[in-house]
Amino acid sequence: MSVYNPNEIEPKWQKKWADAKLFKTTFNTDKPKFYALDMFPYPSGSGLHVGHCEGYTATDIVTRFKRMQGWNVIHPMGWDAFGLPAENYAIKTGIHPRVTTEKAVANFKRQINSIGFAYDWDREVNTTDPNYYKWTQWIFLQLYKKGLAYQGIMPINWCPSCKTGLANEEVAQGKCDRCGTQVERKDLRQWILRITKYADRLLEDLSEVDWPESTLTMQRNWIGRSEGAEVEFTVAEGAAAGEKIKVFTTRPDTLFGATYMVLSPEHALVSKLTSDACRAAVEAYQSAARKKSDLERTELAKEKTGAFTGGYAVNPVNGKKMPVWIADYVLATYGTGAIMAVPAHDERDFEFATKFGIPIVQVVKPKDGCEIDHSCAFTDEGTAVNSGDLDNLTTADAKKKITEELEKKGVGKGAVSYRLRDWVFSRQRYWGEPIPVIHCDKCGIVPVPEKELPVMLPEVEKYEPSGTGESPLATIESWVNTTCPECGGKAKRETNTMPQWAGSCWYYLRYLDPSNSFEPWNKTIEKQWMNVDLYIGGAEHAVLHLLYSRFWHKVLYDLGFVSTKEPFKKLRHQGTVLAASYQDMSGKYHAIDEVEFRDHDAYLKSTGEKLIVEVQKMAKSMLNGVNPDEVVAKYGADVLRLYEMFMGEFELPKPWDPRAIEGCSRFLRRVWRLVDEFDQSKAPSGDPNEKVRHKTIKKVTNDIENMKFNTAIAAMMEYINVLGANGAVRDDIVALVKLIGPYAPHISDELWEKISGEGFLIDAAWPTWNEALTVDQVVTVVVQVNGKLRGEFSISRDATQDQLKEEALKIEKVKQHTDALTIRKIIVIQGKLVNIVVS
Ligand SMILES: [Zn+2]
Ligand SMILES: [Zn+2]
Repeated sequence: MSVYNPNEIEPKWQKKWADAKLFKTTFNTDKPKFYALDMFPYPSGSGLHVGHCEGYTATDIVTRFKRMQGWNVIHPMGWDAFGLPAENYAIKTGIHPRVTTEKAVANFKRQINSIGFAYDWDREVNTTDPNYYKWTQWIFLQLYKKGLAYQGIMPINWCPSCKTGLANEEVAQGKCDRCGTQVERKDLRQWILRITKYADRLLEDLSEVDWPESTLTMQRNWIGRSEGAEVEFTVAEGAAAGEKIKVFTTRPDTLFGATYMVLSPEHALVSKLTSDACRAAVEAYQSAARKKSDLERTELAKEKTGAFTGGYAVNPVNGKKMPVWIADYVLATYGTGAIMAVPAHDERDFEFATKFGIPIVQVVKPKDGCEIDHSCAFTDEGTAVNSGDLDNLTTADAKKKITEELEKKGVGKGAVSYRLRDWVFSRQRYWGEPIPVIHCDKCGIVPVPEKELPVMLPEVEKYEPSGTGESPLATIESWVNTTCPECGGKAKRETNTMPQWAGSCWYYLRYLDPSNSFEPWNKTIEKQWMNVDLYIGGAEHAVLHLLYSRFWHKVLYDLGFVSTKEPFKKLRHQGTVLAASYQDMSGKYHAIDEVEFRDHDAYLKSTGEKLIVEVQKMAKSMLNGVNPDEVVAKYGADVLRLYEMFMGEFELPKPWDPRAIEGCSRFLRRVWRLVDEFDQSKAPSGDPNEKVRHKTIKKVTNDIENMKFNTAIAAMMEYINVLGANGAVRDDIVALVKLIGPYAPHISDELWEKISGEGFLIDAAWPTWNEALTVDQVVTVVVQVNGKLRGEFSISRDATQDQLKEEALKIEKVKQHTDALTIRKIIVIQGKLVNIVVS
């Protein structure tokens, strides 16, 4: 008898796996392919947390399971290593982000290996490696050549005190995260990617993927396609007289109810429109708006503010003059930056008009004819009223008719609008991919010739932004000044770098051919492996990463570099791992059952009964404390893996409960004992567990396919209980070791060796089951009393004699014929008949 000692066997097997290059994948046409992908991590200084481990364990289980089923599985890992934390750390300490990143990567890799994940490390990629970002730059050039990358002036978050641009995540409640100064908006030259050109395809092709419904909905909403009309209003008088103001509306049928217009404070016409009397107020309002984030500006609940420009525009349908206002709830970057306001039928317009005393004209009445409530806007569809020729038409018909009329008059047309904006693709930062273009006074923008890629990130003395809003690269004269590839004259390099999203847009393609130095990937190889069969990662990436990578993928598809329209066929998000107890403001701890989790609510606010915790924030701030290293040291990696999957349904949030880890540890020790003590000569006669064995194999197999990892573990726990009670035959033991293999690979390889299994367990065949042995067949049993038929019942064919007797005696008619008598004998013919002899 031996003792289960994970700290001894786990490093031993990890070394054997590595020495044998067990997880190395090469393409093999004899086997079906399976691409299992994790969202690669940002290697932060704090290391792996238990949330990472949850997703990685799931793909690892699927990887090992599919391998045993005979698939050729590719399972790579890499590092999304450009980004803010390393750069900010460099600003503070002067340590190069490359050094910090290397250290963090080494730590992540050590942790990942200590958990026994089956990655093919020969495919490791790092987005900050010049051999990688060379191709990120190359893809940018393809986008540029296709007209999908352009320059524009876009506002950034600007801290006037730090003299630096800030990422959105560095702005909290409108203030600089570093110094607390009010953040302003500053206009800068930026590179922008024309993702809007792909809006329709990004929307339509969602029908081709197997993704969580909530993620599909978020993608659809982010793209936000709406149909309506574009309408032109003409400025009535003053310096801007005759100028056109274009708006998009989803409700052109309400045009007769438009009583004023609102421009965004940044709209190009504002200055020209503004009368002298209104100028001071308008300019003050503009300057206040510059200090607010888009989010603050568009918050629905906030008090509406605005300033009248003194200008008027003409409503094209009734010739009425409409005052033109500016208000910060209209964004310059959204739509045309102007709206027609219909206060009777739009909530925000209603609030605004009520506050500023602007007329509210009803032009839609509810379908059922009842009067509308004048204390709020009526935003539903209905029947047109007070609308000239449109009167009595339904909303749908009125939209159609007015759009035709606008087109006839040449003042409008049917149009589609998207919420999706073009993607601002430049950052004024050091630690990112340099954008590979050169600015020449004579030739304009000149792309860096492909053979000169990569444009290397130069060494700098200081990592602080330049103070002008430009990236630190702008201060390195020797790097910035270059010669124009076209005319050979003096030219300057682009100093903007790419956002962190860039490297993660295409890493799944580089994994396929990571050391190719001639092209980003070989097309034949791409065709063999793509697309990704299973992609697992956090729901926090449900919108941007997935949208951006889908966009790049589609461009690459159009250019003939990839063979599939969509990159990720099946996507799943691991549920958030919650802490088991929470501390409130007063310092008191609350167990998880005293906590109510909400998605968007106050953070750690107690409402008497329950502590309210916001799930999203919690995931980041509270669980950094749980270090997988400690669990591995105390219980072993197999227990960590098992617990990660056992704590709850994979896709749902669940608490991290240190006490429950103990249960998983106990289970593995029982598995160990059972297999270790197995003695063929003492096995029971026959095959008493045959049915439960086949049932368990079927359940575990189907559960892994359906990502129900927790119930598969529960089935294995039940199975081992049965084996403990009945005794096990060799088939039981073999099945147990194989089923547990993907979950707890170290102990299984050790036990596999003990029972003289051949090679590594991952190369053994996944167990199969006989369907007939897994279904409980139901039979009809007839019941006689003294040989006369008195009833029948249905029951499993395997029901015992006692169960049959019991069922027979429950039948009402049987009771009537036996109650007053004495039962002498009950004859049971298994699966057929029960005869009760009474006298
Ligand atoms: Zn600041
Ligand atoms: Zn030139």
